[in-house]
Amino acid sequence: MQDVEFTNGLLDFINTSPTPFHAVKTMTGILERAGFKALNESDQWSIQDQGQGYYVTRNDSSIIAFRLNRSLVDTGIKMVGAHTDSPCLKVKPNPEIVNKQYLQLGVEVYGGVLLNPWFDRDLSLAGRVSYVDKDGAIGHQLIDMEKAIAIIPSLAIHLDREANEKRTVNKQNHLPPILMKLPESKTDNRNKNRSESADFDGILLKIVNAHIEQEEGNQPLATKILNHELSFYDVQPPAVIGLHDDFIASARLDNLLSCYTGLMALVEDKNTQNCLLVCNDHEEVGSMTAAGAQGPFLKSVLERLSENDEDFARMIAQSTMVSADNAHGVHPNYADKHDGNHGPILNNGPVIKTNANQRYASNSETSAIFKQLCELADVPVQTFVVRSDMACGSTIGPITASEIGVKTVDVGVPTFAMHSIRELAGRWDAYYLYRVLKQNFQN
Ligand SMILES: [Zn+2]
Repeated sequence: MQDVEFTNGLLDFINTSPTPFHAVKTMTGILERAGFKALNESDQWSIQDQGQGYYVTRNDSSIIAFRLNRSLVDTGIKMVGAHTDSPCLKVKPNPEIVNKQYLQLGVEVYGGVLLNPWFDRDLSLAGRVSYVDKDGAIGHQLIDMEKAIAIIPSLAIHLDREANEKRTVNKQNHLPPILMKLPESKTDNRNKNRSESADFDGILLKIVNAHIEQEEGNQPLATKILNHELSFYDVQPPAVIGLHDDFIASARLDNLLSCYTGLMALVEDKNTQNCLLVCNDHEEVGSMTAAGAQGPFLKSVLERLSENDEDFARMIAQSTMVSADNAHGVHPNYADKHDGNHGPILNNGPVIKTNANQRYASNSETSAIFKQLCELADVPVQTFVVRSDMACGSTIGPITASEIGVKTVDVGVPTFAMHSIRELAGRWDAYYLYRVLKQNFQN
């Protein structure tokens, strides 16, 4: 795939994936079109066809896709890992707040959100809603409101003269987005059609039924909302920016960039290795969930691909995992936040992340394998270690390595503004990473 086609595909993928649920839905669509077959965890599996691709999802928000081309016991499996979730603001279970005639929604902070950039953005809402229909059956529907329905306005500088030096964000008080101005009284007929609008379940019911009618055809409509997992997102679409189109600016580059990159490498039909892509939810909150990297999802799938414990152990011993999650590029305005010899530059290639205290899973052996893959793919490569006087982040690499026992390298494209509502990465780095992962699946 050429770089322009790849970049446009990446932008489309992020744009249609405002939540982990939507990311998995978008990925299954791409996999289906590439001929991959769906597996259900509760069915009996018979994986026989060499070269046939399969995928399986958990919680609608984590996905594993794989294609076996040769004996697993003899050659193991080349794995790539990423995560589907990104830091965001999630709607609370009883969210309605009516204050000064405005309807607002209470939000919880999901993961390590950089909060300031969430102010003054045009926000929409998406996620999964569970409901009951007229027959008493429980249904689940993904919704995406698409248009900007809310905003968190900043406090004007005139009301906080020290804003640029001292402003802090209180997560409880300062974040509830404003959705609408409520009618002043029952006789206020400027807003007749808004009289019921402070009831969030009532609002959701209409949206869910509009989605059901649009997507499912004859599926019974929802009669009552039971629960929801909804998050706000910025409606500004991803963009290629820079005087010479060097950069991609977008929400959720961490880590949908790696999900898409791994997916494009996997669906390539020239792959000769046994290939697997795992994209887990809940990385941003520690991965310790049924669908997260510390849960049993990947291990369970790998066990089902093996005949017995002996075969499983032999397969794992010959397998490798490339854990792809974004790295911190050295920011020219804050260059002292990096070690002088380890400041990854945007568009100088993917980064191998190492940490002596094993916050990253890379070791000299797995880093060497990745460096050689870069050389074979004719792609530059960089290295990152955190400053010795700063704490190091982590990712799914060490978790997967310790859960499964697979040799792992942590890599990722250098990024600015990680965990902001709009992050920045190098356009070429994403394409480079795709070429290396493709090499990994073919080598
Ligand atoms: Zn990440």
